[in-house]
Amino acid sequence: MTHGRSAHARSAPPILDADLHSHSRVSDGTLAPADLARLAHERGVDLFALTDHDHVGGIAEARREAQRLEMAFVAGVEISVSWGAETVHVVGLRIDVDHPALVAGLAATRSGRDARAREMGEKLAAAGIEGAYEGALRHVSNPAMVGRTHFARFLVEQGVCGDLREVFRRYLVEGKPGFVPHRWASLRDAVGWIVDAGGVAVLAHPARYRLGATALDALIGEFRALGGRGIEVVCASHAPEDQRRFATIAARHGLLASRGSDFHGPGENRVEFGRLPPLPDGLVPVWRDWPEAWQAEALRHTALRA
Ligand code: AMP
Ligand code: MN
Ligand code: MN
Ligand code: MN
Repeated sequence: MTHGRSAHARSAPPILDADLHSHSRVSDGTLAPADLARLAHERGVDLFALTDHDHVGGIAEARREAQRLEMAFVAGVEISVSWGAETVHVVGLRIDVDHPALVAGLAATRSGRDARAREMGEKLAAAGIEGAYEGALRHVSNPAMVGRTHFARFLVEQGVCGDLREVFRRYLVEGKPGFVPHRWASLRDAVGWIVDAGGVAVLAHPARYRLGATALDALIGEFRALGGRGIEVVCASHAPEDQRRFATIAARHGLLASRGSDFHGPGENRVEFGRLPPLPDGLVPVWRDWPEAWQAEALRHTALRA
């Protein structure tokens, strides 16, 4: 499949199914961390990362289940960042979840969520939708992490919209009745916490940001200068042309390439576990030098022989 494999005898095989972006109900996913790990394994994922928004409370449970299933596991997080007027997401992979700076930084980042959610409830009430704050909370497992997805599930449940995407489009994005602007972590802090915790910082779903080519280049340049090392090339929000575009950008900026479904729950995602295309050729996978990737490869070979 890839050319020149012999020149990179130690590079992970392209058949390795790495999924390095997913959410449990510790943030805005619908499954418990162990159930999420089990589903990933069922769908053939070899190297799995749980990356809840601004929270690492699900890592221990997901790791235990992954170990039980002999699936290679990576501790992760997805940090919400304000970069100018835009919200961007930075995934941290292979983090020490007990690192004090990271723990404190994540707590600070999520601290404003409840007040924001109450305000969203008031704004939606003004738009004629009553009880949305309380309704959103019924969809929340971890009250510290109430967010727009929980509101979206409530509005779908109420029949206000047909699906989550419609709720976002009509109510929850900038300029719409339920949108409340919010100040998240700075890019510098988010990358710093991840690096301090021994992790690799990866720019999540870059095609989603409302940034022109120049602004995007500035974002990536700044991210790189602050210690960011990777970028998602293959993910659920990337069409084939986005994958090609960000493959080129990754190579140009010397960034490692990541791959993740951004899975939030069965039936909610555009892409289920194990259904992502492979990374385009010629990129350096973010997992290339990880012991977890070698473990995944070894387990896969054992399974193939069995
Ligand atoms: P929050 O952190 O509360 O602002 O919520 C952000 C989350 O909303 C993202 O992580 C996605 O899970 C979800 N989200 C954002 N935009 C959309 C969309 N257009 N359709 C569906 N879900 C979305
Ligand atoms: Mn989410
Ligand atoms: Mn995201
Ligand atoms: Mn995500």
